[in-house]
Amino acid sequence: MVTENLDRVQNDINSACMNVGRDPSEVTLIAVSKTKPVEMIKAAYEHGCRNFGENKVQELTSKMPVLPDDIRWHMIGHLQTNKVKYIVGKVLLIHSVDSLKLAQAINDQAAKEGCIQDILLEMNIAGEASKFGSADPEVNAALIRDVSALEFVRLCGLMTVAPYVEDPEENRVYFRQLHDMIYGDLREYFPEKPLLSMGMSGDYKVAVEEGATHVRVGSSIFGERNYNI
Ligand SMILES: *Cc1c(COP(=O)(O)O)cnc(C)c1O
Repeated sequence: MVTENLDRVQNDINSACMNVGRDPSEVTLIAVSKTKPVEMIKAAYEHGCRNFGENKVQELTSKMPVLPDDIRWHMIGHLQTNKVKYIVGKVLLIHSVDSLKLAQAINDQAAKEGCIQDILLEMNIAGEASKFGSADPEVNAALIRDVSALEFVRLCGLMTVAPYVEDPEENRVYFRQLHDMIYGDLREYFPEKPLLSMGMSGDYKVAVEEGATHVRVGSSIFGERNYNI
């Protein structure tokens, strides 16, 4: 099942790229394996998948040592400052940095370890109360400026978790806004090839059409999650 799903999602990404004249190699598919067993991750790995996303530090750090070490791990969930020490220097990219305080904690830990940690800033573009990050453009602009000045974190781009919607077209406006935040007045704070982490199972095709460089796809690859077991 996992292998067919991976092929289908990758094909969808390829055709979304075709729609807008993008090269599919610009888009990284992150298989979001939260709540799913190591066996399923191995099946995806055997099929060529190398990028996996988890949203909890404990789950991430327990899966990491029992899986191949060329896996590129992405931390995509809400992160507490007291937990950064477990993942800094171990994950390729932290997508969910939503405050200066958290960015500073990551910076301090990276300094201690003598590494540079790549991060994204999470923006609550749609302003949903249930989501992390701010929707206020001023607050977000200040966060981007302050974080880009930190020495041991590299601000690589932006991330958003769009609303849950029936029609993915409804989220197109938010994806476009996230794209425009990087390519507008704040362009100088981002690298030459900034990263845009947006799009999940319900809306990754639209996100790719709007410039996503990283899509985070869970249930469309591994099936629905059951939090009760
Ligand atoms: C769970 C999760 C995803 C994947 O969600 P699906 O709808 O299952 O694809 C993506 N991003 C974040 C931040 C998540 O927590």
